[in-house]
Amino acid sequence: MKNISILGSTGSIGTQALSVIEAHPDLYRVCAITGQSNANLLVSQALKFKPELVVICDLDLYNEVKAALAHTEIKVLAGVDALCEAASLPQANFVLTAIVGSAGLKPTIAAIKAGKDIGLANKETLVVAGDLVMRLAKEFGVKVIPVDSEHSAIFQCLVGEELNSVEKIYLTASGGPFRGKDRNFLQTVTKNEALKHPNWVMGAKITIDSASLMNKGLEVIEAKWLFDLEADQIDVIVHPQSIVHSLVQFNDGSMKAQMGLPDMKLPIHYAFAYPGRISSNFKRFNFMDCPELTFSQADAKTFRNLDLAYQALRKGGNMACIVNAANEVVVSAFLKDQIGFLEMSDVIESCMNKVEFIAEPSLNNYLETDAHTRIFAHQLVTKQVK
Ligand code: NDP
Ligand code: MG
Repeated sequence: MKNISILGSTGSIGTQALSVIEAHPDLYRVCAITGQSNANLLVSQALKFKPELVVICDLDLYNEVKAALAHTEIKVLAGVDALCEAASLPQANFVLTAIVGSAGLKPTIAAIKAGKDIGLANKETLVVAGDLVMRLAKEFGVKVIPVDSEHSAIFQCLVGEELNSVEKIYLTASGGPFRGKDRNFLQTVTKNEALKHPNWVMGAKITIDSASLMNKGLEVIEAKWLFDLEADQIDVIVHPQSIVHSLVQFNDGSMKAQMGLPDMKLPIHYAFAYPGRISSNFKRFNFMDCPELTFSQADAKTFRNLDLAYQALRKGGNMACIVNAANEVVVSAFLKDQIGFLEMSDVIESCMNKVEFIAEPSLNNYLETDAHTRIFAHQLVTKQVK
């Protein structure tokens, strides 16, 4: 029996993970769930799955959640620090990190230090501090199993290839809702247009990241840390159908791909079952529904974020942490109509140029860089609003 803590159970990944667990009550149990602001959903999940611990991060919602669960044995905690309790709960032997943003860093570290295997959806944690997190995972003998579909694909292609040498990997990208558009068009796009992803239904932040290609940039950095690769070994290829989830090219020139319908329940299911596979009733891909799979170059000139992420990866140190924090601020501002689509990259680039670079950051340095960059990015956004 796998006892699973889900950090971010009220989100897109969190709710899909619960549906995977619900389908296999003989294999999986939920022992902790956490939410930020959706108290109603968190309470109904708690009543249904009966975990030992529920954490509501927004302190103002504690009384509401506590009262709704008062007639149960479930422990209720509030606040960001309580996330680390959910991550290191003694009953848990697996932690799914499905929080959005760098808020996932501290609880992920807490889970690793408590010896829990990680199902990692929260890519920002590896973008911010991938060196540190992977070093700790090694030190504590913890597996980090990717849930992000591209990285799950690479991970699956690498099973059985432990002794073999990877030449490079290709991360596939759908291209998002603005594939093929020029900068003139992008100047005036709205959040509602950006939120319409052609293939995936996801949380708002990652959907905007997909439209701006920052999601692929973050994924390139995520791949570097998960698979111990150099920047030149990671390529991005646009594949609008989202059927080939990513590919590995080995040193003999042979390539392996993992394919399937775009459904996040698949990589979640795989992360839970790893190293095995268990049967599912998910819809199967039919070649005749999609007989043409196409591939093209990513347009890094129009979508500058991909290039900024590669620059950060090559520079190393705290640069990817700067990119991530600036991106979280501009995406939130774009979702509030405070900044234009193209201006997001300008703010990120200014932060990369202005926030202090640290070549070998400690955890504290990462946390400080995250905080400083947010303040600086907010100032830049405010200037744009004026
Ligand atoms: P959602 O926005 O749908 O959900 C985010 C979850 O985190 C919610 O439970 C939310 O709580 C909680 N949360 C938000 N902010 C905080 C915070 N500051 N502290 C603690 N908890 C917080 O996001 P997704 O599920 O789409 O994405 C989650 C992660 O998975 C992201 O890192 C994303 O990049 C990654 N991912 C997602 C994919 C997808 O298909 N959705 C695909 C691949 C990767 P509440 O809802 O209660 O406010
Ligand atoms: Mg992905």
